[in-house]
Amino acid sequence: MKKMILMTALAGAFGYSILPSFGLRHYQSLRRRKNNEGRILYLTFDDGPSEAYTEALLDLLDEYDIKASFFVVAEFAQKNPRIILRAKKEGHLIGIHSVNHQNALFRGNRFAFSDLAASILTLKKLGCDAGYYRPPWGHLNLFILYWVKKMNLKLVFWDVMAQDWAADATPTSIRAKLLRRVYPGAIICLHDGRGAAGAPGRTIEALRDALPQLLREGYEFKRLDQYE
Ligand SMILES: [Zn+2]
Repeated sequence: MKKMILMTALAGAFGYSILPSFGLRHYQSLRRRKNNEGRILYLTFDDGPSEAYTEALLDLLDEYDIKASFFVVAEFAQKNPRIILRAKKEGHLIGIHSVNHQNALFRGNRFAFSDLAASILTLKKLGCDAGYYRPPWGHLNLFILYWVKKMNLKLVFWDVMAQDWAADATPTSIRAKLLRRVYPGAIICLHDGRGAAGAPGRTIEALRDALPQLLREGYEFKRLDQYE
């Protein structure tokens, strides 16, 4: 009996959140690879804005006139409105990444609705119409999917990561992973906030080398809303 309850719970969890989370991510990735549109990359940054790092990142992007997409944590955005306004003014796309980075995997309908609605509202107050959403850790559930559709949000996962949040990541390891893993049409997910012991600083250092290198390789950077 216990075993059956466990099996039913596992099957439920699989259908409710695990399959939508991982299945959708892989489906999006495969579709992008199939619709390969040339040497274009989409730089995306999660978990900001952070007082300590985001502006240095914006300076670096500005140096190469690269436009990126930022999936911001609403509470951090509220604390750093100036950074959001600057990013927007400099032509970057602002998307949402939850209110305070809670995992939606096994949360219910009330959480799904309020997390998305409150994130949208926070950004609206900062003058941004957030049309794009990336769930923290890429984890979602059927209620999140329902509200994403209802609120007209575009759900975006990623194709390439470089484990830039890890304590043992170095600018060299992040740079090497990036250069090895990118391919035409890929969405790159990096972080300008949270992460272990100053992680975003290492991400920025890695990009200082990786960006000119990728430009030399003939890549062009676009925002997610320029995806064709
Ligand atoms: Zn995140």
